[in-house]
Amino acid sequence: MSDIGSQTLGSEHKLRERFDAIYFDLDGVLYRGLSAVDGAAKAISEISEAGCGIAFVTNNASRTPDDVASHLRELGIPAKSTEVVTASQVAVEILQQYVSPGERVFVVGGDGVEQALLGAGYVASRDSRECVAVVQGFGPEVSWRDLAHASYLIQGGAIWIVTNLDSTFPTASGIAPGNGSLVDAVRNAAGRDPDGVGGKPDRAMMDRTRAAVPGERPLLVGDRYDTDIAAGIAAGIPTMLVLSGVTQTADVWSANLRADYICESVQGLICGYPDSSTITEGHVCGGARATFVEMEMCVRATGGTRLNRLRAADSLKWAMADEVGLDAFTQGRITLDLGLFDLE
Ligand SMILES: [Mg+2]
Repeated sequence: MSDIGSQTLGSEHKLRERFDAIYFDLDGVLYRGLSAVDGAAKAISEISEAGCGIAFVTNNASRTPDDVASHLRELGIPAKSTEVVTASQVAVEILQQYVSPGERVFVVGGDGVEQALLGAGYVASRDSRECVAVVQGFGPEVSWRDLAHASYLIQGGAIWIVTNLDSTFPTASGIAPGNGSLVDAVRNAAGRDPDGVGGKPDRAMMDRTRAAVPGERPLLVGDRYDTDIAAGIAAGIPTMLVLSGVTQTADVWSANLRADYICESVQGLICGYPDSSTITEGHVCGGARATFVEMEMCVRATGGTRLNRLRAADSLKWAMADEVGLDAFTQGRITLDLGLFDLE
């Protein structure tokens, strides 16, 4: 197909119509800090009313599913606790492979970790004595003492399951150490790796999500390549990257993973999505055209909106990666030129 005009065919239908279950990451996707992402409530309401299954999938282990659902409802986003999947729940499922319910487990982390353990029939203890396992997740009250006692237990042979390995997370004041950084502290002392990890990008999280909210045509929506997009790829679920969180245009260009769809925000789900396709000179998407300029070692995209130029350029990047190697993009030997202005 070489006619740019025909590229808008895919945009006649809303993107959401292609899926029967949509799984949402939270931070950077539906909210940033205390505020909802613009249009998130409207988009989720429309998707829900259309009968599409919805799940909210979070690596944040500090809160319970009830807490997460009520926070979303406060932001105007319709959510039920049964639609929430947390890394704590998945960590406890992994624990069940090692330790029977009824045993005493040392809790490092917030209420989310404790509630998940209690819900599965464990004795969740804030005192490390007589514990046979440690479940470690994030909580703002986690102390050096907690980390030290976890380390002592692990050195003594206790099973060690962690909720997630995110090294940092964004707060209103800046970037803060995440659970992965606290896991590193314990790993340094205990001298070994955890026995299991619950959260994204591990596929256990997506397996639980699919069991909770099944769909034949699912989609995972996230703002991070290293957790969300990687989790979708590991589980064989198509992915949509949103640019409302931590990932910026430059990160898309240097990414070593491919998102199937790229949108500014979740609002992209209730809009049309022009698919990219190949022409002799490059790739086109919704009136934008990306071509490789060999003299300048750059992919230049022109026409259409800035977002469609990025989509066309990303499509060309992955087509070229087979030939020139992905390193050319991840290491910056081939640069990206999206121009400055939107023409639409
Ligand atoms: Mg996120």
